[in-house]
Amino acid sequence: MLDWYEPTQRDWTEDFPHENGNYNCKCLMCGEMFIGHKRRFTCRVCAEPEGDPEGDNV
Ligand SMILES: [Zn+2]
Repeated sequence: MLDWYEPTQRDWTEDFPHENGNYNCKCLMCGEMFIGHKRRFTCRVCAEPEGDPEGDNV
């Protein structure tokens, strides 16, 4: 577990309990490192739509 780790805004904290949820990944959108499931390819900041509550048609 990552009890010592302080998650950042980019990390997928809900992935942490999962078996493959603690991978160091590099975001393809912003190039920043984040921690999440190994199959994720963007950080949480880039994945979440900004200011558009109906922006789920991607
Ligand atoms: Zn990003």
